[in-house]
Amino acid sequence: MKQILNFINGEYAASSRTFDKRSPLTGQVIAQVHEADREQVDAAVRAARAALRGAWGRLTVAERVERLYAVAAGIEKRFDEFLAAECEDTGKPMSLARHIDIPRGAANFRIFADVIKNVPTEFFEMATPDGRGAINYGYRTPVGVVGVICPWNLPLLLMTWKVGPALACGNAVVVKPSEETPQTAALLGEVMNEAGIPPGVYNVVHGFGPDSAGEFVTTHPGVNAITFTGETRTGEAIMKAAAKGARPVSLEMGGKNAAIVFADCDFDAAIEGTMRSVFANCGQVCLGTERVYVERPIFERFVEALKRGAEGLQLGRPENPATNMGPLISAEHQAKVLSYYKLAVEEGATVVTGGGVPTMPGELAGGSWIQPTIWTGLPQTARVMKEEIFGPCCHIAPFDTEDEVLAKANDNDYGLACAIWTRDVSRAHRVAQRMEVGLSWVNSWFLRDLRTPFGGAKQSGIGREGGVHSLEFYTELKNVCIKL
Ligand code: NAD
Repeated sequence: MKQILNFINGEYAASSRTFDKRSPLTGQVIAQVHEADREQVDAAVRAARAALRGAWGRLTVAERVERLYAVAAGIEKRFDEFLAAECEDTGKPMSLARHIDIPRGAANFRIFADVIKNVPTEFFEMATPDGRGAINYGYRTPVGVVGVICPWNLPLLLMTWKVGPALACGNAVVVKPSEETPQTAALLGEVMNEAGIPPGVYNVVHGFGPDSAGEFVTTHPGVNAITFTGETRTGEAIMKAAAKGARPVSLEMGGKNAAIVFADCDFDAAIEGTMRSVFANCGQVCLGTERVYVERPIFERFVEALKRGAEGLQLGRPENPATNMGPLISAEHQAKVLSYYKLAVEEGATVVTGGGVPTMPGELAGGSWIQPTIWTGLPQTARVMKEEIFGPCCHIAPFDTEDEVLAKANDNDYGLACAIWTRDVSRAHRVAQRMEVGLSWVNSWFLRDLRTPFGGAKQSGIGREGGVHSLEFYTELKNVCIKL
């Protein structure tokens, strides 16, 4: 049986306790994951601290940048291994991971190397009573040891989205990957060693949240800052843990994102984009659409076209090039999504398509498969309209006016992202600006320039990462004031 080890101080480390990693495709156990205990987490934090004081802390920015480029190249060199590991853990189609997850894993190191190489600093001249004046400039130093707590939906992509800038800024990290997706974080340890990243800079500890590695990392007094991606409820627990010692947090959390489709849109583009935003990665994307609002003149046509699209999705094995939808991550998550499928019906939804579990052949019968599902007819107050489901499903509702749809789309505790489909430029700006979200897409979805701010409003997040915005979290900005 494959063993997935922790990576501490540049070496792989076994634990006395292991847990099973099951394939989402079949439900079979595919690996034993070594669960870091409190001592191992402590060893990882101490190794990280020592790295900051050692060779890593002494590198120039240019030297650090070269090493990060080497990490990016190392991921690309072992592209197929990362691809296989990611698809084995998640069950996602290789066609998706090949274009998104793995290339972005490499890009996250390159882009933040470029950011740190090019970032200027602020400078202010000031007058003083003696007429000689003074100057001020901002000087950035690493925050120290950063705890990185990751989800399972885009494991390598979201982990490196945090590790890339953290290392670019000169920090050391202790990563706690999701218990569902331990492989690519572990594999990255080999790449770090090959790229000349000193021991202790990148550490990986496996385990769960409460009373396990997640809690041990976030409560460890030697961790100076915590960056987290995951559910809002978990983010709240992490915020509480970070309150001890007044440590900063960056939280990227859940969403219940709306798509707003105006009658003047490019219809085919809106369908293509909404197909992706609802069903990509089996609906397990934080930015994904679960509420679609369509202007009344095109409502019926839109529902019909999205239904056709959903019914045309090919569920299957990752390596099959025809597959464009995999299973959900686990049987537990399948049960959660199915509970919402049931609730939707109880709340009065019309099931346009889906609503259950598909029949899969052979050993796939044991996997956590789910039907792509579309509903209509729910009131705005339904739980299915309020709560994040994180599955391949959406509700479609008609609207008549811009003000009405803005009120409905904003009527949610979450505020991560939205997609607006229209050819009216003024309206596009108006609606994008009035949406209470961190990211508004117009005539697109998940189009990401990594230099731009990324994060959520309301209960979807605290802070922004991306480009220079990441520096706000991963560095201490000190003002140096010099009297001339
Ligand atoms: P989760 O919150 O269940 O778990 C995330 C991580 O936190 C895991 O590594 C888990 O082990 C750990 N954890 C759990 N409890 C903890 C605790 N008490 N202390 C410390 N660590 C703890 O989230 P998930 O199910 O892995 O991911 C899905 C969620 O992530 C969805 O809500 C989705 O919207 C969100 N998400 C948000 C973004 C974003 O950028 N805003 C991106 C991807 C996913």
